Amino acid sequence: MRKIVIAGNWKMHKNQAESLAFVEQFKSKIENTTEGREIVLCAPFTSLTVMSKNLHGGRIMLGAQNIHWEIEGAYTGEISGDMLQEIGVTYIIVGHSERRQYFGETNETVNLRLKAAQKCGFKPILCVGETKQQRDAGETENIIIDQLKQGLIGVDQNNLIVAYEPIWAIGTGDTCQSTEANRVIGVIRQQLDNKNVSIQYGGSVKPSNVDEIMSQPEIDGALVGGASLEATSFARIVNYQ
Ligand code: 13P
Repeated sequence: MRKIVIAGNWKMHKNQAESLAFVEQFKSKIENTTEGREIVLCAPFTSLTVMSKNLHGGRIMLGAQNIHWEIEGAYTGEISGDMLQEIGVTYIIVGHSERRQYFGETNETVNLRLKAAQKCGFKPILCVGETKQQRDAGETENIIIDQLKQGLIGVDQNNLIVAYEPIWAIGTGDTCQSTEANRVIGVIRQQLDNKNVSIQYGGSVKPSNVDEIMSQPEIDGALVGGASLEATSFARIVNYQ
């Protein structure tokens, strides 16, 4: 049985007060959420500390948006697994396309971060996906297979989530057709040794399309950006039909 995991990726949004206000509003809306659906909030590092103190158990799991592969050292601007352990984080997003595009993340550094996350006992969410240009050139499968092959060297597939996030569908409102997302996720699954890895779809997931996306047999969850910033909207997504 593959686990359903719905994660909100807040990216660089929300200060501490805004994060706590979200949690207060959101908690009451997920009281009746179907058992077994994992609900994750990947908040900025500054918010994670206060959120963990205000969750008191409950159904919300915390996720970070990055991790460095060393435990400590001269790495200005980075956060280690050791530091994240202290604040009750369970999930870590690794290799998001924005990290790859703006911060020079490569398949090699993604691989190092994945292994570091697992070593510290976190569940990493590996993001893969193609650009519009790569899709138009018919390279989608090759790009994704490459990202998986290089990213997953030495990675334990029993403790892993993969998110298929076509870059052209991120923050554009231009969702990938659910049947096409299902097809690509099928290709991803073929590449994995462990067929029970949960594979999410991400890219303009919103209340109006989540039911259709989640009805696809290969899709085990969603990684949600913009629509996870507002409690009512993200609760509707988590409570998909
Ligand atoms: P949007 O849901 O805003 O398109 O962002 C998707 C994403 O990048 C989640 O990681």
